[in-house]
Amino acid sequence: MDELILKPERERSLQRAHPWVFSGAIAKINGDPLPGATVRLLDHAGQFLAWAAYSPASQIRARVWSRDQQEVIDRSFFERKIQAAIRLRKDIGYLPFRENQYSAVRLIHAESDGLPGIVVDRYHDTLSAQFLSAGAAYWKETIARILLEQTGCAGIYERSDADVLALEGLPEINAPLLGAVKPRELIHEHAIAYQVDIAGGHKTGFYLDQRENRADLLANAAGREVLNCFCYTGGFSLAAMRGGAKSITSIDSSESALALARENVSLNGFDAVPQEWIEDNVFTRLRDFRDRRRSFDLIVLDPPKFASNAGQVQRAARSYKDINLLALKLLRPGGLLYSFSCSGGVNPDLFQKIVAGADADAGSNAVILRQLRQSADHPINLAFPEGAYLKGLVVRKPD
Ligand code: SAH
Repeated sequence: MDELILKPERERSLQRAHPWVFSGAIAKINGDPLPGATVRLLDHAGQFLAWAAYSPASQIRARVWSRDQQEVIDRSFFERKIQAAIRLRKDIGYLPFRENQYSAVRLIHAESDGLPGIVVDRYHDTLSAQFLSAGAAYWKETIARILLEQTGCAGIYERSDADVLALEGLPEINAPLLGAVKPRELIHEHAIAYQVDIAGGHKTGFYLDQRENRADLLANAAGREVLNCFCYTGGFSLAAMRGGAKSITSIDSSESALALARENVSLNGFDAVPQEWIEDNVFTRLRDFRDRRRSFDLIVLDPPKFASNAGQVQRAARSYKDINLLALKLLRPGGLLYSFSCSGGVNPDLFQKIVAGADADAGSNAVILRQLRQSADHPINLAFPEGAYLKGLVVRKPD
């Protein structure tokens, strides 16, 4: 068995159950492990720390599978992990699905489910998976088979085409992996039907992390004129329609996302709701609305990740402030702003400060009604706070 031996004092984060080992922490490698193979992690004195997957190309040189020395990292290990992940989704009431109400869930949320690099979403009868580390790629076929066995799903599609793969030295893959795969699936969330483009959509196809936040908006949209910025395939727009909004204006720069959003409108019989779909850059269109003195009762800002690493946080903060400032100006008295950030490098504290800065500049004197986060099927391992990436604020402008 190949071994990684850490430098003195570098075992601390592992002892606190953090699952990553950085390249700079490694003193010595015994053997010649293949990418993704299981290695024994030892402290400087030769004491066992963990079983981990070796990533020779990555700064994150190893990711922990287990800190139990008795554990064997084999098929049955992954069977148990996947079973536990499914049990959690049952416990929170996300499984089993309820016909015509709920038929999508994140089944595996990587580190938070003890399966670093592995993300699996279930869309009705089809699984959409990302294998984002050498260890995840190594066990891919085994995991795919277990997933089909345990879920009874017809097939699994692989969407390992994220930026992080280059850092792992892995190729990007966007292809059917196992079983009978539909490139598109029909799902329900809050009794709203959505078409999910598994093969061509963003990430695994749909932003399941916003499920609970879309429910919050649905409950507060009645009678309001809504502006949904970065609408993608219409997640929040359709929730607003179901919630009885007076009108919905949605903006996204992606033509294909907007096309699917409009299909989703028809699918739900919402064609008669006053609505406008705008293909444009949110930054410029919000300025245009400001200049034309357009106003709204509820605005959603759910932009893409502006910062993917610590070095980009400053620039990201300026972008967040810019759109929040513009949105607060467009908001009518008594209006609500749902503002989100999915940048891991921007923590909830910093995000709140950015929105506070926008509020001060806009002179809006808004108050926070609620602090939001990712849905419970995207749990956060306490030893891995990096897993808490999505945060949101519901802010109200005074009358
Ligand atoms: N709120 C959505 C998810 C948003 S994902 C949901 O609940 O499903 C972010 C979206 O922002 C993507 O659809 C992307 O096409 C769009 N986007 C990225 N940069 C943009 C920009 N500058 N202007 C408009 N849309 C943009």
